[in-house]
Amino acid sequence: MGASRIPPGSHPLPGIGGIGLDYLAEAHTLVPMKTEMLLPSYIRLLTPGELRRRAEEARELLSPCRVCPHECAIDRFTKTGFCKTPATPLISSFTPHFGEEPVISGTRGSGTVFLGGCNLRCVFCQNHQISQPGTNPLPNLAPTADCLSEIFLKLQARGCHNINWVSPSHQIPQLLEALSIAVEKGLRLPIVYNSNAYDSLEMLRLLENIVDIYLPDLKYADEETAFRCSGIRAYPERARAAIREMFRQLGSAWDVDDEGCLRRGLLIRMLVLPNRLADIEAGVEWIASELSREITVSLMAQYHPDHLAASPEAYPLLSRTLSPGEWARALESLEKYLQNPGNFVQDYLMAPAYYRPDFSKTEKPFAEIEDFQHQPLDIGPRSTDD
Ligand code: SF4
Repeated sequence: MGASRIPPGSHPLPGIGGIGLDYLAEAHTLVPMKTEMLLPSYIRLLTPGELRRRAEEARELLSPCRVCPHECAIDRFTKTGFCKTPATPLISSFTPHFGEEPVISGTRGSGTVFLGGCNLRCVFCQNHQISQPGTNPLPNLAPTADCLSEIFLKLQARGCHNINWVSPSHQIPQLLEALSIAVEKGLRLPIVYNSNAYDSLEMLRLLENIVDIYLPDLKYADEETAFRCSGIRAYPERARAAIREMFRQLGSAWDVDDEGCLRRGLLIRMLVLPNRLADIEAGVEWIASELSREITVSLMAQYHPDHLAASPEAYPLLSRTLSPGEWARALESLEKYLQNPGNFVQDYLMAPAYYRPDFSKTEKPFAEIEDFQHQPLDIGPRSTDD
């Protein structure tokens, strides 16, 4: 890896033993705006009652449930569907989080709310303790909408730069209800919609001018891979449709505040998988040709064989971290199709150990950098094949 190149105003994580953990990126040519000038878009929906109306419209989609593309069509008030999540909020934990891209974490952390359950079944899910109840040894919390609104406000009071909904696709009605309460009580932080991109277009349209920061994954380009790794053959098609809708709402331009934090914009995350399973080249080619070459992408090296993928017998192609050659090829693909100097790139050597949560530590599921100072890093099995 070359020297770290961090956008002006962003805040790299400190390194260990001279190896930076920072996301690497060149300068965005952005003119920062005064934070107070950048009120979240949802403020404009508050007075005419539009925010409440959208929350109510979203609630109607809970029965029969078509909150996400599974369209289970069950009554969420009495049953659960594929996501195993009721009609009330389900969360695992909430905390200021410093492990997102620097423009999301800033200096005071992203106000992260980790939601329970999920509408995908990724066999390598790092959050499987909270996202896949069948294997979940941990209890999730079930706050009321009012309690969840207080959680948003608590994160704001702690100085976080945004409210970051992690895996929200199956709980949008619950989140909108809590948000409408929180905004009436004084919430003024932008919402980060941090999803796997298996999102309903109908729901995304309801989020227009409520969500200011879309942070979707683009996981696979191939249906068979999507089926084997996440249990959903339609993922590539549905995720691309969702990201297209996010792009329609926000375009590729960014607003950043005077602290270098993103206030409005789209940032697409791409996790590189071993054996080219994510097909990064096809993904970035699609972004460049169908959306824009100006889109900002975050290329992630943090893959670690967790959950079911830890078994080489069951998932031989997923049971190791990336080889240097696989990572280099992904970087080449990014460079070939999306020369946006603001793209983010994780540190190949450190990312697999650094970004591994343990949700049994509800107050602090992600380790801080100092936690690595006195213990060996578990990087995991690596291939020397490159
Ligand atoms: S949100 Fe859950 S119950 Fe509703 S359609 Fe999606 S997976 Fe099914």
